[in-house]
Amino acid sequence: MKVDRDLCLHCGACVGMCPFNALYLDDTFLVFTDRCTNCGVCMNACPVGAISRDEPVGEGGTAAAGNTATGMIGGGGQ
Ligand code: SF4
Ligand code: SF4
Repeated sequence: MKVDRDLCLHCGACVGMCPFNALYLDDTFLVFTDRCTNCGVCMNACPVGAISRDEPVGEGGTAAAGNTATGMIGGGGQ
């Protein structure tokens, strides 16, 4: 998983949602740890869509359900 630094508000919503305690907020940045299973919960929890999948989950097939487009989170700026 990865976070877009420009979008992240440091609100902490994703941290509270992670079932594995796999991420935390550093002073300046959101950090993902090894515990992360790429489940996507934090991604869905983020109000601004700052989190996305970094590596395509391929071989294990853990996230077979769908590789939907990441580009849909438009927003177009203000
Ligand atoms: S993808 Fe899942 S396991 Fe990884 S940090 Fe987000 S909520 Fe936690
Ligand atoms: S939920 Fe989104 S905006 Fe809030 S800390 Fe997590 S990545 Fe940043």
